[in-house]
Amino acid sequence: MPSDSTPLHMVDLIRRKRDGLALTERQIGFLVAGATSGSIPHEQLAAWLMAACIRGLSLDETRLLTLAMRDSGERFSPSRLGRPAVDKHSTGGVGDKTSLLIAPIAAACGLAVPMISGRGLGHTGGTLDKLESIPGYRTTLSLAEFESVLARCGASMIGQTPALAPADRVLYSLRDLTGTVENPGLICSSILSKKLAAGLDALVLDVKTGSGSFLRDPGACEFLAALLVATAESAGTRTVALLTNMDQPLSLTAGNWIEVAECVRLLRGEQPEGTEDVRRLSLLLAGWMIHLGGKAATPEAGFVLAEAALTDGSALAVFLKMVDAHGGDLSVFADLDATHKPGATHVLCAWESGYVASMDTTGIGWAVQRTGAGREKSGLPGVPSDRSSSLGWCDPVDPHAGILFHARLGSYVEAGQPLATVFATNREMTVEPLGFLLQSIVIAPDPPQPIPLVSRIFTRESAEAHLANAVR
Ligand code: URA
Repeated sequence: MPSDSTPLHMVDLIRRKRDGLALTERQIGFLVAGATSGSIPHEQLAAWLMAACIRGLSLDETRLLTLAMRDSGERFSPSRLGRPAVDKHSTGGVGDKTSLLIAPIAAACGLAVPMISGRGLGHTGGTLDKLESIPGYRTTLSLAEFESVLARCGASMIGQTPALAPADRVLYSLRDLTGTVENPGLICSSILSKKLAAGLDALVLDVKTGSGSFLRDPGACEFLAALLVATAESAGTRTVALLTNMDQPLSLTAGNWIEVAECVRLLRGEQPEGTEDVRRLSLLLAGWMIHLGGKAATPEAGFVLAEAALTDGSALAVFLKMVDAHGGDLSVFADLDATHKPGATHVLCAWESGYVASMDTTGIGWAVQRTGAGREKSGLPGVPSDRSSSLGWCDPVDPHAGILFHARLGSYVEAGQPLATVFATNREMTVEPLGFLLQSIVIAPDPPQPIPLVSRIFTRESAEAHLANAVR
């Protein structure tokens, strides 16, 4: 039996995982330290990731990997802010702009929201790309600046800093390149390492299900949700997960500026037609944050407080103050439509009369990406990019590209009626999105069955019970 001082070798850890054995705390610590410092070559990390993806991680390995990755860099300490620190994380969707509403709503209700967001990748959009469509908005702040914005505004939305969970930057980009993203233990440790490094008191998770979810199998979505909740709770952060439907884009817009503009309208108290789902989902998630942060006795009471912050203008005031504190140009909000300057516009009309019977939201997400609004690949840290970003290694996106939908799932459309407007970087770039839309939207004589927005909620107790049954 090797003692605690026996030197460790990465090749042994790869063999161990390849043979389906669990790694010890010391072995996981060695792997994470080597990924962070660069002392373990990428090919060995990639081999281990593939073995882990195929063989899986035990619940205990997932917890140990999460904690080691959380501790691989600096940790933000929001305790000086004097407010409970609460955040929301979504597993990624199409047209998912809830963060832009939730952060100011929760801050207006007395919470600190230190939100560290991601960029769009593949068929899913990213909050940072949306925020950067506001000219001047800086998504890269030092931890000291982050704290200062939080103290002044209650909310700050930035990108992952090189200081927080640096092991995840290396491991996630390798997973992206090696087809090893889709493993629940790896996903859980990746998501939570960043969230827990932000020192949260509570966390609300929005785990997407349906045709736009990156895990297609509903059972896999439930397992991931339960794993996230149980792992975060074991690290001392109160956590819930809502499984929410992504069988169509959220509300009417998917892109960058067009999503920001829709959120500003909602924050102004307007309720444009077709935005009911994003408004309700944002209030539900914010309601849970307000409850877990101790500002409401129940999530339902939290919902009521959240709705008041949306309608009385206090959330809008936080949003504008936060954008200003990040260097964003507030004048772009004066005329939301005039600010929108896409390179090319094409209206797709319904090809027959009938109901919008189904939408393959992943296909629609690819349509949005091909307009220029998203990116297909990230890259490895250190590989130069053509635009500086919080990570310094990703493709640029077009702030004005995206898709505006004129019909939702279940809408009746007449042949020739506008279905979607494609905003692309140039005329050529309208072609592929149109192809994706034609393949992804089905018009049929009968309406589809309504699908609930939230199908299940996991708290610590239900998550632990679910995992106990799942691994038995
Ligand atoms: N988002 C993350 O941050 N990590 C994953 O592994 C998947 C989604």
